[in-house]
Amino acid sequence: MKYSIQKIASILGIKNQYLLEGEITQLLTDSRKLNYPQETLFFAIETRQNDAHKFIADLYGSGVRNFVVTKILPEWKSFTDANFLKVGNTLHALQRVAAYHRKQFDIPVIGITGSNGKTVVKEWLYQLLEEDYNIVRSPRSYNSQTGVPLSVWELNQNATLAIFEAGISQPDEMKYLEQVIRPTIGVFTKLGEAHQENFSSQQQKCMEKLELFTNSNVVIFEEDNKIINQSADMMVLLQKAFCWSRKYPDAPLYIRKTEKNGERTTIHYSFLNFDYSVTIPFTDDASVENAISCLAVMLYLNVKPEKISERMMKLEPVAMRLDVRQGKNNCIIINDTYNSDINSIKIALDFQQQRKLERTMKKTLIISDILQTGLLPKSLYKYVAELVQHGRIEKLIGIGHDICENSEVFTVGEKFFFRSTEDFIRSEIWKSFENELILLKGSRKYHFEQINELLEQRVHETVLEVDLDALVHNFNFYKSRISPNTKLICMVKANGYGAGAVEIAKTLQYHRCPYFAVAVAEEGIELRKEGISTPIIVLNPEVNGFEELFSKDLEPEVYNFRILDAFIREAERRGITNYPIHVKIDTGMHRLGFLPAQIPELIGRLKSQKGLKVKSLFSHLAASESWMFDSFTQEQIATLEAAHREICSQLGYPVWKHILNSAGIERFIDAQWDMVRLGIGLYGVSASGLSGLRNVVTLKTTILQIQEIPNHETVGYGRKETLNRDTRIATIRIGYADGLDRKCGNRNGKVWINGKYAPIVGNVCMDLCMIDITGIDAKEGDTVVVFGENLPVLEVAESINTIPYEILTSISPRVKRVYVKE
Ligand SMILES: *Cc1c(COP(=O)(O)O)cnc(C)c1O
Repeated sequence: MKYSIQKIASILGIKNQYLLEGEITQLLTDSRKLNYPQETLFFAIETRQNDAHKFIADLYGSGVRNFVVTKILPEWKSFTDANFLKVGNTLHALQRVAAYHRKQFDIPVIGITGSNGKTVVKEWLYQLLEEDYNIVRSPRSYNSQTGVPLSVWELNQNATLAIFEAGISQPDEMKYLEQVIRPTIGVFTKLGEAHQENFSSQQQKCMEKLELFTNSNVVIFEEDNKIINQSADMMVLLQKAFCWSRKYPDAPLYIRKTEKNGERTTIHYSFLNFDYSVTIPFTDDASVENAISCLAVMLYLNVKPEKISERMMKLEPVAMRLDVRQGKNNCIIINDTYNSDINSIKIALDFQQQRKLERTMKKTLIISDILQTGLLPKSLYKYVAELVQHGRIEKLIGIGHDICENSEVFTVGEKFFFRSTEDFIRSEIWKSFENELILLKGSRKYHFEQINELLEQRVHETVLEVDLDALVHNFNFYKSRISPNTKLICMVKANGYGAGAVEIAKTLQYHRCPYFAVAVAEEGIELRKEGISTPIIVLNPEVNGFEELFSKDLEPEVYNFRILDAFIREAERRGITNYPIHVKIDTGMHRLGFLPAQIPELIGRLKSQKGLKVKSLFSHLAASESWMFDSFTQEQIATLEAAHREICSQLGYPVWKHILNSAGIERFIDAQWDMVRLGIGLYGVSASGLSGLRNVVTLKTTILQIQEIPNHETVGYGRKETLNRDTRIATIRIGYADGLDRKCGNRNGKVWINGKYAPIVGNVCMDLCMIDITGIDAKEGDTVVVFGENLPVLEVAESINTIPYEILTSISPRVKRVYVKE
């Protein structure tokens, strides 16, 4: 749908402003996601950390001509062919435009909120109702103050049902989302456990969430939850409640019982005095609750119980994120096989586009027929062809009857069409894929997981999974704790604490990390080769690696006179002036650095040359995590400050200073100064026990064999452990050559499997080890977590008397790194 810029101005209450012609189809808040510049309206949103007005000049350069702003900057004077709509609050303006758009549609709109399960319920409702409706829904978990308006903007004339989720992080936010979504059907999924909070604040949060349903026709929730029930009562929502209950037989939807058998759960329920049952292919409690919420919605929408049972049986797990995996022949696979409506195709193409660092790779799309859009195939594939063209796809593989029939609308360089997934597999053209960035996008019934299987490289089934969303969360978490004027240096030394420096740096560069630091020049060179253009500090530069340092713009740490003199000589020999260096002062760690007594001589040398310029002066804290040494830490801080004063006054130009590492940021925020150096915290480990970080790395492997071993037998090399009962022993595919420390053997360490801990039995072998899974429901092939969310690296480190740093950086290079991202 299109809106003229005049129309949008009037929605925003802007009158009497002269506007140039413009037609808007795209609302944009993230300047990196630009796709259709001429049709884009950019909202410059200000947050505490970021002011998006600073991206306007770049966007103008890329062809954007319509902006919603809160101020007009002098440097835009020459942008005379652009429209600037000035408002008091750009976020509210975005919400107002979306709310107006919403009002144009008189269709059922399902609004979902709650503390857990929103995305799953939304995706399941989509799976369950796609046969009956043309559905528009929020992409993935777009449920925030900006995500919701962007989702609602996707409503179009073909839609017959919409499903949006709404999440809030602060009081007062829901009323805005309510106006944007205006749900006719409200679903409250689950209310989180009452952590340390008391009942009244829980209830307040709950009431805040229920505000989403003020104007709905019906509200669906669990009657047995006292907090929700009382809150709904106080909000006067009870007369339109459609409750489900396990306790009260007179509830509109009464859950008589749930029965788990093997991999399924049967839910027996009564509705309008009749008894029915549905079976779902899941057994965990969260899935059962989510399925009941879906059941209630379907009953409310008059879907026949037989239909409900039939569809519930086929529910699929919800892929919450786009997987990025290493493929064969140097390909990278973006696997998004679970969703294939148009909206999600757009998002996946955007994601592929944004991976600019793989720009030398050919962009390939493998796509199936798109089902249930309500559009005629001809216009549907014309639209898809447009998306494909904008996504700069160079090779297209279309699979399915309809896409074959419409093959002529696609204008890409190479295109191939197949009637079925089997035809494609039989063609063997996939064997020739090389150096391609492949996006896999198929409807469920096309079983693209078979294609993924063929393309993915599987060498060793022990993987280190790196959650890039969690990494970004942690990055933003620390960023929000420091002042906007302090720069974050992200430490990617030691191959990014084992997680893989290249992928970590690519992700953080995309999120505008201002600085990286590595240990040795090679690591910096590798990053430059992979397209990292962010400034990089090299902590231990080799004196003979000058050529590469200078040519790759790597900024060395200088810690003694030997290094300093060598750099001065080399810079002068090459005629380089003002090359940036970072000077380290030893304030008490006694590892590397100039001692305070050497500062006068240091100043003398620096002043007598022109080749180098001190960009920053820094030092490293020896025990920032430990309160026992806080006065020592304070002394280190004071020593650096004094050194900085002395050097600055003598050099006559400003020099940045920094001293804080992760624990320092957590505990000595007053010393944040110009920069801070974030290491282990980025990877999800807080040395000072801070909460709020997300787990980033998970080391996983699989079970190769399970045997029942009788009492009194021994297990493993050296017969170190004699069993004292009949034991179920599983052998897993990880050993000390993968980085599993031998000290973890003989029950010092454990792993996490199917929700339980299993101790490591006997000595750890080179490529394998054994675990005791007596009483644990597990089978061969099951996944075992060596560390991760439920078994934190910190705990593993403590069990063998070391530190998380060593655990993380000891994972062998032969363990494949797999990157996941929403
Ligand atoms: C490794 C390192 C850091 C980061 O330390 P964390 O404890 O991981 O935050 C900071 N500064 C220097 C000089 C380092 O070598």
